[in-house]
Amino acid sequence: MYDWSDEHQAIIAVVRRFVDEEIRPVLDDLEHHDVPPYEILRRMYDVFGLKEMARESFHRLYERKVSGEPASPRGGSDPAAQLISTIELCRVSPGLLTSLGVSTGLAAGTINKLGTPAQMQRWALDLMTLDKIGAWAISEPDSGSDALGGMRTTARRDGDEYVLNGQKTWITNGPYADTIVLYAKLDDGSGEAMRSRKVLTFVLDKGMEGLEQAKRMRKMGQHASPTGEIFLSDVRAGRDRLLGETEEPKGGGGESAKDNFVAERAGVAAMSLGIIEECVRLSVDYAKHRTQWETPIGQYQLIQLKLAQMEVARINVRNMVFAHIERSGDGVVPTLAEASAMKLYAAQAACQVADDAIQVFGGNGYIAENRVEQLSRDARVLRIYAGTDEMQVVAIAKDLLRR
Ligand SMILES: Cc1cc2nc3c(=O)[nH]c(=O)nc-3n(C[C@H](O)[C@H](O)[C@H](O)COP(=O)(O)OP(=O)(O)OC[C@H]3O[C@@H](n4cnc5c(N)ncnc54)[C@H](O)[C@@H]3O)c2cc1C
Repeated sequence: MYDWSDEHQAIIAVVRRFVDEEIRPVLDDLEHHDVPPYEILRRMYDVFGLKEMARESFHRLYERKVSGEPASPRGGSDPAAQLISTIELCRVSPGLLTSLGVSTGLAAGTINKLGTPAQMQRWALDLMTLDKIGAWAISEPDSGSDALGGMRTTARRDGDEYVLNGQKTWITNGPYADTIVLYAKLDDGSGEAMRSRKVLTFVLDKGMEGLEQAKRMRKMGQHASPTGEIFLSDVRAGRDRLLGETEEPKGGGGESAKDNFVAERAGVAAMSLGIIEECVRLSVDYAKHRTQWETPIGQYQLIQLKLAQMEVARINVRNMVFAHIERSGDGVVPTLAEASAMKLYAAQAACQVADDAIQVFGGNGYIAENRVEQLSRDARVLRIYAGTDEMQVVAIAKDLLRR
């Protein structure tokens, strides 16, 4: 695949129209007035019939689960169509995509993968249709990159129930989520060292006693995506809330968190492409029209160098995303090292391109209404969440040295 097909182009055109007509006009509310992103996302689902598609996708996954067939957690939908909406949303608001991806991808995806059919029915369907909003909580104040080993949140067995205590932080959708997929270390009373204890995955509902979803944190960018802390104080969870209703689910606990890393990291490459494409478009246009010394700044070689480097980054990231789409269509899942390589390169490229875009715009680049400053702030977290740059390097190098 070296370009979008005619069918893809048609999808791009309609998504772009929706973004222009319905998202750009409310961007300032999302960015500066703490308006939650969910209504606009639900509207998008209604306009494009995505709710019905999500329902169908859920039923396919459900049937597979009931019949015992292995299932891809994301329902086998067209990878190109999914990534097109990622790219187009990220041209204007990467935060919207973060909120959407965490709810439908990470939260629903984990429930579909590890849950029993009853748990899928109970929680995943509503998350996939956006009737409910989900969060996926693994990070803690003292364990980010070392999320599994350093985890301190515990689940103590108490009769047929578990009692959860601890704290999660930087949780996307945390302040508003109806459904929270939450990882905790088993406390079985044996006194085993925290590092080596089993990781269990629970589903919690908003409003449970002892569960506090704190208000949104102030942050550098992605203001369209609410981020917050979650506190657990003797939250009682029955076995029906333990995914798979077993402490030994196939591919569960830490394993499922690692599976999510692959999907997330490939998704970040598509997010980066959206940011890069928009920055190139805005910068080329600005360079043609902004004049200094009665000459368009695009005629100056130092500006041309920036535009050319942006374009090289765009082509490279686009080729990565296209190769990923083609391979996904053939059922090939990237290895953790491949997904990490994509994320590392694409996230750094997005940050560099957005920063160069600010420079091309000069003083106007620093002013919010010209949008490149927002894209630059929004891009920065791509080098941090879903594993920092350094963690991608570790994953790639480990794989190389294992050969
Ligand atoms: C906006 C936002 C949204 C997020 N959403 C979620 C969410 O929905 N759910 C969730 O669970 N988490 C979420 N996170 C958390 C995110 O995944 C973590 O911030 C990230 O994994 C990094 O962890 P940390 O912040 O603790 O950094 P640390 O792990 O403390 O790292 C600090 C620095 O040390 C480096 N470092 C650490 N270990 C090593 C090593 N072994 N070798 C070399 N360098 C190392 C890191 O690369 C980094 O540069 C979110 C974070 C942000 C900012």
